[in-house]
Amino acid sequence: MERRFRTARAMVEALTPGYPVYCLRPHVLKRTAARFLELFPGRVLYAVKCNPHPAVLKGLYDAGIRHFDTASLPEIAQVRENFPDSGAYFMHPVKSRAQIHAAAKVYGVDTFVVDHMDELTKVLEQTEGSEGVTIMVRITTPKSEGVLYHLAAKFGAEAQEAAVMLREARSRGCQVGLAFHVGSQCLAPEAYEKALEICGQILDMAGTPIQYLDVGGGFPASYLGTANMPPLEAFMDVIDKGAKKLKLRRDCVLMCEPGRAMVAEAMSLVVQVHLRKGDRLYINDGVYGSFSEMVTAGIRLPAELIRLGGQPAKDLAPFVLNGPTCDSVDVLPGHFELPSDVREGDWIEIDRLGAYSFANATRFNGFYPETLVTVEDEPIGMRDKPIASAA
Ligand SMILES: *Cc1c(COP(=O)(O)O)cnc(C)c1O
Repeated sequence: MERRFRTARAMVEALTPGYPVYCLRPHVLKRTAARFLELFPGRVLYAVKCNPHPAVLKGLYDAGIRHFDTASLPEIAQVRENFPDSGAYFMHPVKSRAQIHAAAKVYGVDTFVVDHMDELTKVLEQTEGSEGVTIMVRITTPKSEGVLYHLAAKFGAEAQEAAVMLREARSRGCQVGLAFHVGSQCLAPEAYEKALEICGQILDMAGTPIQYLDVGGGFPASYLGTANMPPLEAFMDVIDKGAKKLKLRRDCVLMCEPGRAMVAEAMSLVVQVHLRKGDRLYINDGVYGSFSEMVTAGIRLPAELIRLGGQPAKDLAPFVLNGPTCDSVDVLPGHFELPSDVREGDWIEIDRLGAYSFANATRFNGFYPETLVTVEDEPIGMRDKPIASAA
């Protein structure tokens, strides 16, 4: 059971931690999940890889999320063992035969993604005798502007192949669907519109109806520099309209798989300053830990100083944050604006670290962020509003 505090500052007062501490905000998780559940015209799956912390999955489950996008047996086991009434979907397009077999026969998974005919054959052979297998054909979509990762670079079938797979799976008695992923942190709703048009072309070619249409993840989260990001409503609107144009069967289920947008705002990290050298601060987590996406995706994060005993200076100055490992790669890109008199022993709360932080952290050099508490206040940048009730 995680310890609960009102704010990150209250946590620091109680623990004076010399180690990094994640601050999970369950009320933010709940609020975001409720928005997806309310706005998305279909089934909302959470992409477990984005943040598989047990407290995060539990928080989402408590908020009403009952479907999980999983990509490995450990993820499937985690979902099925903790939430037996929830669905795990095997959304990785390349799986070993043993994984497919165990997913179907041990964990009762009935939905599998494929993007190649040989994978379809594998899934059909390994699930033989299982009832009601659903095959989702993952398609490739054009690279769109402004996404941080292009997820169709490695996976996804071309339209013609996809149509053939849909027909084959259908003829083998499976339910079928189409799936795509426009790329992570997608700032352009039109990317979903284009992908849905491609789905329409494939459906025309295949001449067979689908039971599922999965628009993937990719919805953006608010970081520094994303003030112009379209609201979730804009994405949902485009998806709703695009799907309606496809003249799907009335019982076709629309699905989405948000990772980042579901969790990014719900977790911050409190680090401590162990040494100051001019404008360089040495802190206890870095790019091999929670901050890898500052390098791989160029995200920029808001931060605030926490000092016990005395007020920090009012004027801000730019600082470079150095991570703890013994190499010069471990430096966070860019600058953080912090009070000019930051000193050893101060703490820094760095926010928007719910997505791809804990999940990506390595144990390099013996440093690993693993402590998590829950807090009740609003994330940095949203604190002018009254504290949301956790109800
Ligand atoms: C990573 C991934 C997601 C989640 O993507 P976000 O950009 O974090 O929303 C969803 N579906 C699949 C298949 C993925 O690989």
